[in-house]
Amino acid sequence: MNTSNPEAHSNNSPMMSLPQALEKILNSIKPIEATESRKIMDAFGRVLAEPVKSPINVPPYRNSAMDGYAVCGSDLPASGEVPLKLIGTSWAGTPFAGEVHAGECVRIMTGAKVPEGADTVIMQEDVRAKENEITIGSGHKIDQNVRHIGEDITKGNVVLQPGKLLKAAELGLLASLGIATVKVRSQLRVAFFSTGDELRAVGETLEEGQIYDSNRYTIYGMLKGLDVEIHDLGVIRDKREDVEAAFTKASEIADVVFTSGGVSVGDADFVKETLEKLGQVSLWKIAMKPGKPLAFGRIGKAWFFGLPGNPVSAMATFYQVALPALQKLMGQDICKPLTLKVPTLDRLKKSPGRMDFQRGILDYENEQLIVRSIGAQGSHILSSMSRANCFIILPAESATVEAGSMVEVQPFAGLM
Ligand code: AMP
Ligand code: MG
Repeated sequence: MNTSNPEAHSNNSPMMSLPQALEKILNSIKPIEATESRKIMDAFGRVLAEPVKSPINVPPYRNSAMDGYAVCGSDLPASGEVPLKLIGTSWAGTPFAGEVHAGECVRIMTGAKVPEGADTVIMQEDVRAKENEITIGSGHKIDQNVRHIGEDITKGNVVLQPGKLLKAAELGLLASLGIATVKVRSQLRVAFFSTGDELRAVGETLEEGQIYDSNRYTIYGMLKGLDVEIHDLGVIRDKREDVEAAFTKASEIADVVFTSGGVSVGDADFVKETLEKLGQVSLWKIAMKPGKPLAFGRIGKAWFFGLPGNPVSAMATFYQVALPALQKLMGQDICKPLTLKVPTLDRLKKSPGRMDFQRGILDYENEQLIVRSIGAQGSHILSSMSRANCFIILPAESATVEAGSMVEVQPFAGLM
């Protein structure tokens, strides 16, 4: 720990608000610079590194929005009926080669090119058709059912900006423009390990006073939601050489290092010692619950996040603090997670001071969206995260919230 830092952790240091902490972190990091070219299917989940301009117009030709008949607008009757001579068919993929003149029409399919001379499409349901002639009535407008060149995208216009996360719609959009490869940010490399003498890996037998390491699995799971390169460095015992070796290795192979545990008061001193020796790291107390202690800084060239050890705290700080930082490091536009205002069916116990991220279940009751509490809110109760489907966010200054009050909820589904 950098003890010269005024925000260095001590028992009486002031708490930092979550927005303050986030602002500090986001201001001090910048996106990784490396980029690479990838085929669009291999670019799923990646972040675009350059603006994409459309090389073509979409649609590339005037085409029909309906199955029907392409006609000349000048033939549309203001009243009564008009017969038109059928001179051919325009299929999607096989356009009609000729020109449509006054008094003529062409059978046309959805997506087929509107032939020269025609400017209007009449739905097939609106005509009476004989073998080589159709009859149309009044009530039609020139230009109806015609999709115009460049109506969706104009050639040369920027369709995607750098920072855009490439998902299904973007892959399709790129393909619709005939773009085969794009320049994306290289994958962010993320290493993590757990610290604690009490921790055992799954597969080992628990002795008295030991627990299984779960944080590594939740951290792995949360990282899986992002397109990052994952390095799992296991459980590190509270031993000086081991901790130092783990930090050194992690900072050499990754752009970002996560640990969990060892950042609260009363932890084995050499975790702090090691951080002080290898990097510039501050320990913060963030005014959020769960998740008060958090370490942030640099180890070597890597960014470092020391998440709290309690499993729910580790998840809450990952989502609320680390995720926006990872998005920025990936070069992605930071997405503000979706929140909703809904009534709570339960009384939510709270004392003023910290911003609460209680676990809730967003559901319907009498066809109205509501939220219930999952009950016990201890930061060690990991099952609460599994039963819940949202955070209930209560502002720092808020005290206990009575049942029936409106509260802000953040669905887990919108977090990644
Ligand atoms: P610490 O921040 O190291 O004091 O840990 C706070 C609490 O979280 C303690 O009860 C630890 O046993 C627990 N804890 C720390 N790391 C983990 C982990 N990786 N998996 C599960 N629980 C943990
Ligand atoms: Mg510990």
